[in-house]
Amino acid sequence: MQAQGLATGWLTGTSTDCRPGGVPPSRPWRMVLLGPPGVGKGTQAALIEAAIDACHLSTGDLFRAAAASHVPPSPAMQAALAGIARGELASDGMVIALLRERVHCLTCPHGFLLDGFPRTAPQATVLEALLDEASVALDGAVYLQAPDAVIIERLSGRRVCRTCRRSHHLDHHPPCRSGCCDACGGQLYQRDDDVPAAIAVRLAHYARTTPALLAFYQQRGLLRTVDATGTPHDVFARAETTIGWRLGVQPPVTPARHPAQDA
Ligand code: AMP
Repeated sequence: MQAQGLATGWLTGTSTDCRPGGVPPSRPWRMVLLGPPGVGKGTQAALIEAAIDACHLSTGDLFRAAAASHVPPSPAMQAALAGIARGELASDGMVIALLRERVHCLTCPHGFLLDGFPRTAPQATVLEALLDEASVALDGAVYLQAPDAVIIERLSGRRVCRTCRRSHHLDHHPPCRSGCCDACGGQLYQRDDDVPAAIAVRLAHYARTTPALLAFYQQRGLLRTVDATGTPHDVFARAETTIGWRLGVQPPVTPARHPAQDA
């Protein structure tokens, strides 16, 4: 079993066996997590991952890993990272290229929870095509919803562990020891894009791109909206009820779409 949160094939782009010896479920769950920045997608992904044993795959983690790497980023990645620090989205082209390099993760026998992808309708279209090519189907698009005031308050107080990526909050979930992660003792830091100017830019991008994305999954009968206010465990309980998973319970059988069905 992999250490929690370390989907090594996802981070490196190589098709390594992330969970040597881990027995995969007989029918894995495959879901995407949608919602505004700071709504708690990463927090919920960690809870859901533990419940259904699916890999948590975050595109934001790919950019943070590139920023933290000792290998100098390519000029294209360097430009993307500068934009991300200002709160902008990476281009569809760049993020789709990153996903294509990791297409093996979409057919992982443990399933997946995609966090942060897709963020736009063109990204959703590419994901759908990749899943169709691999003859696997998405079980749901879980949309975590919360008012802007809640989002801004969560993002401003968020501190993330450099080592295990766990989030803390200065008011709601302060670390026992200032600056240190409760889970692993790693160093906590404030993300560049969690400062007020970048938060405003992120929310504006979110408002512009999200309606088409939600419509995409609504049209396919896959959208599941979850009220993301309250504690992480409140939200998890609501998500569990909405999606209907329970440990050991199989996801619904959703046949892979065939392009001809859209004709
Ligand atoms: P996250 O950790 O999901 O909040 O992602 C951090 C940042 O990475 C985002 O604010 C974007 O700038 C960038 N990013 C992550 N995923 C995507 C995506 N699917 N499309 C465009 N930009 C992305």
